[in-house]
Amino acid sequence: MPPPLSDYIHQLPIIDVHEHHLPETFLNSEVGLLDLFKQSYAGWTQARPYPLPGETVDEGLMGPAKGETTWPDIAAYVENCGSNQFVRSLVHGLDELYDLKGEGITEDNWQTLDQSIRKNHRDPNWAHEVMRRAGVQRIITDPYTATLQNATKTLGDHYQSVLRINALAMGWHPDNADHNGNRATDFAKELGIDLDSFDDFCQLLEVLVDTLAVRNQVAIKNALAYDRDIQFDPPDEALARRAWRNKQASAEEQKAFGDFAVDHLCALAGERDIPVQMHLGTAVIHYSHPMKAVGLIERHPNTRFLLMHLAYPWSVDLLGMAFVYRNIWIDLTWSFLLSGSHFKRALHEAIEILPDESRLMFGGDNWHAEESFSSFKHARNLISEVLQEKVDCGYFQESDARRLAEKIFSKNAIAFFEMDE
Ligand SMILES: [Zn+2]
Repeated sequence: MPPPLSDYIHQLPIIDVHEHHLPETFLNSEVGLLDLFKQSYAGWTQARPYPLPGETVDEGLMGPAKGETTWPDIAAYVENCGSNQFVRSLVHGLDELYDLKGEGITEDNWQTLDQSIRKNHRDPNWAHEVMRRAGVQRIITDPYTATLQNATKTLGDHYQSVLRINALAMGWHPDNADHNGNRATDFAKELGIDLDSFDDFCQLLEVLVDTLAVRNQVAIKNALAYDRDIQFDPPDEALARRAWRNKQASAEEQKAFGDFAVDHLCALAGERDIPVQMHLGTAVIHYSHPMKAVGLIERHPNTRFLLMHLAYPWSVDLLGMAFVYRNIWIDLTWSFLLSGSHFKRALHEAIEILPDESRLMFGGDNWHAEESFSSFKHARNLISEVLQEKVDCGYFQESDARRLAEKIFSKNAIAFFEMDE
């Protein structure tokens, strides 16, 4: 007798295609319970950590906790925001990892939990051990605080990373930084390229793509939905050139510069068969609808796009796009953390509408190992439920469900990123 589907799914190894494991956070030896809440998506319940147009954001929002932690600091999450999915997922994960016996986090147990977290994080292997317990074998991280770092060196042999391109699309002027503070001029400096002309900038794009493997980077990552409109129009080089080093560049010229940079990077990626990850859905929300990316995807039929987060809340639109364009793959990352019930509905539809079984994969999208552990526990539960429902209604056999689960958890990512098995 094969094991029940849920047991089978809970033991499957994971290839984790997206995290924000940054060495300074993930491997920090000074981490307490409040840090785990602040430096996780649960922290987004307190304030949005990225600006909308015309706003500035408190830089300390996702920074380490200051001063002595008190119960009201913790209650702000587990009571005031206790119904939120980000909070629920993290609490359930901590309950299992720290043996809270199903009680969650309470005024009676939080201090003991805080001490255990602090003790464990002083062990440099703890974070890696938690990822091992989550069943994660390999990890692709997006280390946006040091985009050109070699994650294999900074985080371990089982890590690779992606090259975040936001700063390049905004690089018409040396003063410009993306929402993470990255600048194209800093990339050029790190690579020893003089950035004096628009042609130098084009060369920078090419060198960055050609040196990805040197840095163990396996894809480029477009997270521009946090910085600008993701409707990337056909490149107009003459208009883009007018923005170069021009503080008075018009909004149209600035947009053309970004459109040109992104289009050029997608073309370079296509020529070299390098995947392009792209954030879709909630970010700067009136910029981030997945349909806005259709032009870019259509212009680059030989570029493989890995579109993220089920484009929440526009999952149906994204799935429609993935039905039409065969250069789209779907990264389920974050969608199950935003809303488990939305995720279940969308996964049911994804299974039905996607043309083949190669299209789905997922990651944690988290900063600390405890949050990643929690995310994967939550995702395993939800994927088990959906696949069991598909078996129960006779959509397919249990053997089909097991085959598909193995692909979603690891096989699709191995093939998509051409990893060694
Ligand atoms: Zn992310």
